[in-house]
Amino acid sequence: MKPAPFRYADPRSLDEALDVLSAEAGAKVLAGGQSLLPLLAMRLAAPSTLVDLNRVPGLDAVEATGDGVRVGALVRHAHLLRDTAAARVQPLLARATANVAHPAIRNRGTTVGSIAHADPSGEMTSVLALTDGSVTVATPGGRETVGWRDLFVGPLETSLSGPSVVVDAFFPALAERSGTAFAEISRRKGDYAVCGAGVVVTLDGDRRVAAVRASYISVGLVPEVHDLTEAVAGKPVDGADWAAAGALARTLVDPDGDIHASADYRRLLVGVLTERTLAEAAAEALERTAA
Ligand SMILES: Cc1cc2nc3c(=O)[nH]c(=O)nc-3n(C[C@H](O)[C@H](O)[C@H](O)COP(=O)(O)OP(=O)(O)OC[C@H]3O[C@@H](n4cnc5c(N)ncnc54)[C@H](O)[C@@H]3O)c2cc1C
Repeated sequence: MKPAPFRYADPRSLDEALDVLSAEAGAKVLAGGQSLLPLLAMRLAAPSTLVDLNRVPGLDAVEATGDGVRVGALVRHAHLLRDTAAARVQPLLARATANVAHPAIRNRGTTVGSIAHADPSGEMTSVLALTDGSVTVATPGGRETVGWRDLFVGPLETSLSGPSVVVDAFFPALAERSGTAFAEISRRKGDYAVCGAGVVVTLDGDRRVAAVRASYISVGLVPEVHDLTEAVAGKPVDGADWAAAGALARTLVDPDGDIHASADYRRLLVGVLTERTLAEAAAEALERTAA
């Protein structure tokens, strides 16, 4: 199939992009096009105008500071994957991005586009949640910060309405004495995951487990963060029962079944991936504590 006819706008500034979006309710932002163009080709979306952000200056930077990593709207997955400063500040970024699609798609698709697309099977929506991140949204009225809890409303649905452009996403830095891990199961490498897990383990000053958080992909309708601390709280990190945390995680999720996997299989994977990633994240937390 071919897309329904649409107009194309090629703004050179954010204000110009917002002018086009304000003038037409049916206009839609185009970033990397890796999700939007297939939807157009299948006629699952028919915007009146595509507002291409690619020539808007100032949206293509990754800024890593002690507070966190700010990722501009035109930063491609591949750029973020290679950014070593960003990976030092928040290791989940590179770990998760390495699992996003195939290299060709990572070269073009943007991290912010992936968040704006709000696919519960996308890695970066889950990482935004797990790191307690936010996005900056530009509208004709100014800019505002929207936290992940207020952003994701449903599958492929955000709370953004009216003329708006997400100009960046902010991922807070990994806390001290903490480690992360990310893993997923997909039928072929690069495919959307049947199930994925990102975790953060934080230790106290005595190297005992102080906090454990996890977020899953392809499991719920919107990203969720689960607190698994009670299963392992206060345990020495070497002897913590990560399987108990996995068992707790299985009771907290409510996955759906589909053509790729049954709900029961997804729940099983949540337990397995949680146990596996927590052991890895704990080792990293220990290493960072010793350093
Ligand atoms: C074969 C294939 C496999 C893939 N596998 C994965 C995968 O495993 N994991 C994964 O996460 N993704 C996967 N993707 C999607 C890919 O990661 C996309 O890059 C990403 O979902 C969207 O980014 P984009 O820049 O291409 O956005 P676009 O396709 O340009 O836009 C997507 C949506 O977001 C909106 N949008 C984009 N940017 C903004 C903005 N700055 N402000 C407001 N709205 C905006 C658009 O209007 C549109 O509705 C896959 C894609 C393909 C084709």
